[in-house]
Amino acid sequence: MQTLRGRFAPSPSGRMHLGNLFSALLAWLSVRRAGGVMVLRMEDLDPDRCRPEYARQLADDLRWLGLDWDEGWQKGGPHGPYLQSERTERYAAAFRALEGQGLLYPCYCTRAERLAASAPHRADGQAIYSGKCRYLTEEERVELARTRRPAWRIMVPDREISFTDGLQGPYRENLLRDCGDFILRRSDGVYAYQLAVVYDDGDMGITQVVRGRDLLDSTPRQLWLYECLGLTPPAFFHVPLLCAPDGRRLSKREHDLDMGALRRRYTPEQLIGLLAFWAGQMDRPEPAAAAELAPAFDWGKVPREDITVGELPSVEKAAKPLFRERPHGGRGSFSCEKVTPSTMRSVISDAHVAGNDGF
Ligand SMILES: [Zn+2]
Repeated sequence: MQTLRGRFAPSPSGRMHLGNLFSALLAWLSVRRAGGVMVLRMEDLDPDRCRPEYARQLADDLRWLGLDWDEGWQKGGPHGPYLQSERTERYAAAFRALEGQGLLYPCYCTRAERLAASAPHRADGQAIYSGKCRYLTEEERVELARTRRPAWRIMVPDREISFTDGLQGPYRENLLRDCGDFILRRSDGVYAYQLAVVYDDGDMGITQVVRGRDLLDSTPRQLWLYECLGLTPPAFFHVPLLCAPDGRRLSKREHDLDMGALRRRYTPEQLIGLLAFWAGQMDRPEPAAAAELAPAFDWGKVPREDITVGELPSVEKAAKPLFRERPHGGRGSFSCEKVTPSTMRSVISDAHVAGNDGF
């Protein structure tokens, strides 16, 4: 049987937060349960947001949680380098291969033009690209190129692309109607997340991608790229997001819930136990080591719907500790007086909706 290959693919643009940890734990448990190989790849393509010190911190945080990897950044392996910033030549080659198939064209639209209110929008608020620059004449391109550096888009087909998500079930999208031609290289020359993630997962032989549900709708675009690049797509598992009581997802902006704050308050076992409880792998949130949970890990118990952190009974009852002391001592006690509904809400109320976090 084929060895399962999973990956952590964090973006080193800040400290991980609870939502990242949730995806990371599920990805790790799934791989360890199957006796597979875990890969760590740093998605540090965006020079404006990513920092080497964040990458080191991310790796340290994963180790602290007991989530190890067999291949990847700081470890090496046959599919390196494992920093996306060191793989741009490969993305350039993939880009040229697509260009050679006549699938790419330059887009001169400004950001304002792309995001114009008059443009049709997807349910999630992203603008659907009209295809305007697909039909420019060579003359018009030359004229526009005098003053603007283009982004590059890939043409999408007018047909449904469907797949079955391991957790969310069947999903389909007509890319032309629901998305439009999408950007593979930004006007500043940085390759887009979509190209890099597909190329890397394909090149690294990843067979299972576990990530947040917010990336579900980018999967048809990625499947189109897998097809065009002649790469084999992995199985996808889109896991629920952790949300604030008002429905917003937890993000890197909630610094009180990022790894820096969490490590000061909790032990790794306390955090893992809480995440495993949310993931349906434990009946109660009790301290547990990640390695202890792996043998019994079951995708069938993972909820599909987003998880509202503040509404969990154990968090809701402020007087009750989140982790109770075991009658026989066990792994020690833990009281969660610092994460009461009120503190959780006050932390969350300052939050903003963040972009993709890479997991
Ligand atoms: Zn355009």
